[in-house]
Amino acid sequence: MTTNRLDALPLRPELRGKSPYGAPQLDVPVRLNTNENPYPLPDALVARIAERVGEAARDLNRYPDRDAVELRTALAAYLSRDGFEVTTEQVWAANGSNEVIQQLLQVFGGPGRLATGFEPSYSMHGLIARGTSTEWVSGPRRADFTIDTEAAVAALATHRPDIVFITSPNNPTGTAVDRETVIALYEAAQAVKPTVVVVDEAYVEFSHADSLLPLLDGRPLLVVSRTMSKAFGAAGLRLGYLAADPAVVDAVQLVRLPYHLSAVTQATALAALEHTDTLLGYVEQLKAERDRLVTELTALGFDVTPSDANFVQFGVFDGPGGAHAAWQYILDRGVLVRDNGVPGRLRVSTGTPAENDAFLDVVRGLKKEHSA
Ligand SMILES: *Cc1c(COP(=O)(O)O)cnc(C)c1O
Repeated sequence: MTTNRLDALPLRPELRGKSPYGAPQLDVPVRLNTNENPYPLPDALVARIAERVGEAARDLNRYPDRDAVELRTALAAYLSRDGFEVTTEQVWAANGSNEVIQQLLQVFGGPGRLATGFEPSYSMHGLIARGTSTEWVSGPRRADFTIDTEAAVAALATHRPDIVFITSPNNPTGTAVDRETVIALYEAAQAVKPTVVVVDEAYVEFSHADSLLPLLDGRPLLVVSRTMSKAFGAAGLRLGYLAADPAVVDAVQLVRLPYHLSAVTQATALAALEHTDTLLGYVEQLKAERDRLVTELTALGFDVTPSDANFVQFGVFDGPGGAHAAWQYILDRGVLVRDNGVPGRLRVSTGTPAENDAFLDVVRGLKKEHSA
């Protein structure tokens, strides 16, 4: 970043000296650093997207459906697959779940308001808070990266946040949060004042546990956010969504830009949802590969955080140079993983079986050099 160039601009004071979010995108053979789905979309789906986008193109002289009703209905049907019924009125969609989170912070956060999350967690929650002038305070996690309910409840009582983020499965640790913890945190927050609690389920399709969606029942300030970027293998599409009480959906419409979801985006997402079964088939393969990574890294003697996501956090790198030196060693051998800044730990996304084998070969060498 050319910070000196920014220094000359009349930036908002809280943005001074900051850097934009972003993982380094280096040109290496095996890229396992951004939790993308390694499988390209199947040909039949690519053809269907072309067909639906072609139909949408005929009407591009008109603004798109501002309320994205057809898409929200399809997303509601997808969310209802596991038996807990979600209606169109309970669903809202935007350009990635990051935009969903931004809209929530614009409505329920802002100047004079406070948001919190239990870190290490998804750093965008804090960054989007800052971008909306919402104060951010970090809440605690145990050394094993689970949420200590008692400590978290105490933190809520101390900080009195307006918005609470709970990421389950969590990024970068892979840790799922159980429903009892979410219920306890929701109740503890409401005991102080009405508080929006956002459960970020970006990785839930990869979890061994069920979605927390049924907790929406009777909890009007609970929001579950989801994305098509991970399980649906469509990070390039930019489609995220939430499920919540219909009043929350009405509220985000106070801040959404008119026609924020293009007709092309809506058509593409609808085509992808038609192929849900195929795409969830890839998820099953990735879950098996994720479990293999956990097993093999554990067998090699790494300290591996149990994962319910499509990535695995491993360590502990406490030698000279710490996790960053290990990251560089792995990169020098053609594999890019993520150094998230969690001391002594790295995160590897699940790739294809061949990519995972390449990664495991490299870390086997790393382990040998260290014990030699
Ligand atoms: C990847 C990720 C998202 C997805 O963001 P999109 O804007 O939908 O691509 C959201 N939350 C978490 C925790 C993530 O890791």
